[in-house]
Amino acid sequence: MKAVVVAPGQAGSGRLQEVPDPTRRSGEVLVRVHEIGIDGTDAEILEGQYGEAPPGDDYLIIGHESLGRVETVTDGAEDLAPGDWVVAMVRRPDPVPCRNCAAGEWDMCLNGLYTERGIKGLHGFLAEYYVEQQRYLVKLPGELAAVGVLLEPLTIAEKAVDQIQRIQSRLVWEPKRAVILGSGPVGLLAAILLRLQDLDVHVYDRAGPGPKSALVEAMGAHYIWAEKRRLGHKLANEIGPVDIIFEATGYSPLAFDAIDTVAPNGIVCLSGVSGGGRRLEVSADHLNLELVLGNRVVFGTVNANRRHFESGARHLNEIEARWPGLLPRIITARLPIEQFAEGVLRGPNDVKKVVEVAPITVSGAIDGDERT
Ligand SMILES: [Zn+2]
Repeated sequence: MKAVVVAPGQAGSGRLQEVPDPTRRSGEVLVRVHEIGIDGTDAEILEGQYGEAPPGDDYLIIGHESLGRVETVTDGAEDLAPGDWVVAMVRRPDPVPCRNCAAGEWDMCLNGLYTERGIKGLHGFLAEYYVEQQRYLVKLPGELAAVGVLLEPLTIAEKAVDQIQRIQSRLVWEPKRAVILGSGPVGLLAAILLRLQDLDVHVYDRAGPGPKSALVEAMGAHYIWAEKRRLGHKLANEIGPVDIIFEATGYSPLAFDAIDTVAPNGIVCLSGVSGGGRRLEVSADHLNLELVLGNRVVFGTVNANRRHFESGARHLNEIEARWPGLLPRIITARLPIEQFAEGVLRGPNDVKKVVEVAPITVSGAIDGDERT
């Protein structure tokens, strides 16, 4: 079958090539791949900064944001049937396993020995087919197929919101306002999740007015152009007390500005990372005082587990019902597999670029015909 592979650690080694078909064992499912979303991790893998081939292979099939359709099932995988739309989870528990992986919370792995499909030690999904155990697949209704590839990035936001709610159960918590830093896919999806809870949401980004700000306004949120207004306590004076700040740019100085912006009892969630050794002079006494005297919390979050995929699938449905046509606008390009490398190029108006491995067809409910 055709697959997009890299030689991990070698910049520019990404290529489309023939690889052996995946082999199935009992309890596994063969999935035909339809769409694969491309993100910053894929860009780093293609630049040779990240990525690890499976043991015994000298290449890694990339791609971890998937949407596919069950082709065949084996004994022990009867919860799924041919034709079901599925999204695969990315991380797999470490072999020890640590206490978190043993409890199904591999996103909280303690020893770092977990594997990740398309990233770390396991082949990914940017190929014609993949094979997976049923327990790592999440089923989606056919009506959500057109936006199903957004489920994996949505789970990053799902986990963040879940963690915020758990941490804030420490107090009487009635959040009114949130600021999202960054209008990339994860930032926009977090904004939509918080709008579903009817919060007053502001999305802060360095891109000027355009399709992204229009998307933000379409969900009933406000767009803040970073060039016009700086993050900090003055911003909170203008828009009102900020209970939640979700950082999704990976520009680390914003984390400190966020501490200076969030209201007393508020929470700052960091989800973005940037490689590098950026140094910054900060007002340590001031930030320490803000955290202590304001009962403020700053925490980091990564990856997601099955709970977040399941809540994400429910929320995709709710979002489609409340803002019809909003989610499809997040997918700003669909590329043929031969043009996978264009997936990592980001123009100011690009949000999520997707590689279309096979076109999405939905079975007609009445006559069973396939239609595009
Ligand atoms: Zn673990």
